[in-house]
Amino acid sequence: MALVNEHFLKLPNNYLFADIAKKVNAFKVMHPKADVISLGIGDVTQPLCPAVIEAMHRATDEMATTAGFHGYGPEQGYDFLREAILKNDFLPRGIHLDIDEVFINDGAKSDTGNMQELIRWDNTIGVTDPIYPVYIDSNVMIGRAGTMVDGRWSNVVYMPCTAENGFVPSIPKDRHVDVIYLCYPNNPTGTVITKKELRKWVNYALKNDILIFYDAAYQAYITDPEVPHSIYEIRGARKCAIEFHSYSKTAGFTGLRCGYTIVPKDLTAATLDGERIPLNPLWNRRQCTKFNGTSYISQRAAEAIYTPEGKEQVKATIDYYMQNAHLMIATLRRLGYEVYGGDNAPYIWMKTPRTSDTSERGALSRSLSWKFFEQLLYGANVVCTPGVGFGPSGEGYVRFTAFGTHESTEEALHRIEKWTINH
Ligand SMILES: *Cc1c(COP(=O)(O)O)cnc(C)c1O
Repeated sequence: MALVNEHFLKLPNNYLFADIAKKVNAFKVMHPKADVISLGIGDVTQPLCPAVIEAMHRATDEMATTAGFHGYGPEQGYDFLREAILKNDFLPRGIHLDIDEVFINDGAKSDTGNMQELIRWDNTIGVTDPIYPVYIDSNVMIGRAGTMVDGRWSNVVYMPCTAENGFVPSIPKDRHVDVIYLCYPNNPTGTVITKKELRKWVNYALKNDILIFYDAAYQAYITDPEVPHSIYEIRGARKCAIEFHSYSKTAGFTGLRCGYTIVPKDLTAATLDGERIPLNPLWNRRQCTKFNGTSYISQRAAEAIYTPEGKEQVKATIDYYMQNAHLMIATLRRLGYEVYGGDNAPYIWMKTPRTSDTSERGALSRSLSWKFFEQLLYGANVVCTPGVGFGPSGEGYVRFTAFGTHESTEEALHRIEKWTINH
């Protein structure tokens, strides 16, 4: 008899974005003429830049020749891309990594989900709350998260990030953790961490033998010089941190798939006997067994974003999204909303206003996040993401993304303004 991995059954069977889609569809069925604008899902809208497209055309033509054909590539990725990463993303920040510490992936989601395979099932994980759901769900799937009680997993330590603490998580004092997930700039809150704050986390990790999984998927959106682009800007981090990067938000690769993960050679974890085991060879072994590399064409495409033209074009697209972010912040603040993020990240995190709403729709859902989501959908035909979908501390907030077109963002803001004033 094949027995199922019952840990999967513990997962809430409603995926946040599926729930949102269901509610939006219900609205559309009732209001077929309404034109709904989504500022909800975190997918990009602008096309790939010309440098990337040209590189893909060239790579495709190569694949059409016997001499230029590429079959299975190295599981760790091609050296041309790994070298471009070291030279452009790390050396200019004074970070010296070895090429064997760079693993090309097919996007950061896979690696942030898979990396937990390297640690024992009974490690305790700590997460900032709210959080990108992949970190927790991937731990649930192998039984590390325990059981769900009142919206929280019993073996997960939640570190709240709210307006009250300025979205700076406190180091857990009353419970021990073994592995901590940090994501900066943060999805969903759009907030960042300063070098000084990050140094506290690195020192804490070094002192307490904790492993940090650091998700830097949005580092390309940082403009503030006090905000680190990589955890390895902090001394000692290569002894305690694994870092995940993605070209998805950097360069619009959400449909193309490419990113990379840094597993430093100095990084170790302990056996029960206390022996220190380097994680770099373990991850290499894991990848060679379970992963056959990212496509040659995707890797050539990624390489192209490091050319002078590529850099300029990628920056222009990021600036385009950040113009949306700035307009969103300015408009929402003017309307009296409390908003966060949006300066070094394409996300705006907004406190749901206190209302004395007594409509039936509002009464249907007890969550302030979901209630505001529905009011905005029905009142302004604009979709946001309920913050509580990212964790218990997200309750009472919603997320807007800056990934729309200028036109749709302006129109959405215009509708929110009209609705706010009249409502
Ligand atoms: C979008 C995103 C990623 C990247 O996902 P890909 O698999 O690279 O597309 C990783 N982490 C966070 C927090 C994200 O929002």
